[in-house]
Amino acid sequence: MRDATPTDLQAIIEDIHAELAPRFGEGKVADYIPQLAHVDPQRFGLAVVTLDGQTHLAGDAEMPFSIQSISKALVLTLALGRYGEAIWKRVGREPSGSAFNSIVQLEHEHGIPRNPFINAGAIVVTDALLAGHTPREAIAEVVRFVRFLADDEDILVDKAVARSEEATGDRNRALAHFMHSFGTLRHPVEHVLGVYFHHCALAMSCRQLARAGLFLAANGRHPLTGGSVVSAARARRINALMLTCGHYDGSGDFAYRVGLPGKSGVGGGILAIAPGRASIAVWSPGLNANGNSALGSVALERLAQRTGWSVFGS
Ligand code: GLU
Repeated sequence: MRDATPTDLQAIIEDIHAELAPRFGEGKVADYIPQLAHVDPQRFGLAVVTLDGQTHLAGDAEMPFSIQSISKALVLTLALGRYGEAIWKRVGREPSGSAFNSIVQLEHEHGIPRNPFINAGAIVVTDALLAGHTPREAIAEVVRFVRFLADDEDILVDKAVARSEEATGDRNRALAHFMHSFGTLRHPVEHVLGVYFHHCALAMSCRQLARAGLFLAANGRHPLTGGSVVSAARARRINALMLTCGHYDGSGDFAYRVGLPGKSGVGGGILAIAPGRASIAVWSPGLNANGNSALGSVALERLAQRTGWSVFGS
């Protein structure tokens, strides 16, 4: 298959937007974080940014939404920068096969979470980022890093979403206390969760998110600023984790249908990476049974089919 030209790409994403329009609203908007339940289920945005920075947008691609667990890929990148491979002493790298907020494996596995993309694993990564920092400083560091990645100073944390999750985060609190009892967490649970809830509450548009993920498609380089974010080997490894663990117990299905590394969030966003080609962000708030954007996955499946982008062959 020949590579899609910029004109093809724009036409492809506009077609996908138009085809899916009758289905907008499919799935179930997350309501266990009350503030997320206020989001209009009919929203749909799609952004594709190619390595040369060309940006293709469709639908609500400029509207900020709650990135939720997509932040887990970005904070992992930050923690790898600080600790290198030593982070893997504290969190595993295996798909979990269970829900994003599951507690069952933790007891069997002595408080070491399966991977950094389930809640327990991301809470451990967040604990690592707190070393030497107050919670406020750690949040500021994450925000600075995400702004740098997207080359966009306007990115903010949605404080109402963070407060809403803080008020209802019993499940995450249970996970964190359980890990604290094993010594997996080194900071007070409320500090760790405060930072965790805030990075999950980052509000970004599809355009900003696709730009922030571009280094993962570009061997760790930052095509927008010319700098380097991580080594090529590290970018490959983050992509491998996104492919195997990025969609919780729906990761196998996403790999089968889309064939690209991706990280989802319960806000209905998905960041997907076509290595060597593009970074893609889609947003549709309705979720499927695994807590991943229902229509977002369909949109990415169609995009991958039409562009031929896949990590498994062309
Ligand atoms: N902040 C959410 C939670 O901890 C993230 C879950 C997700 O996006 O999958 O429950």
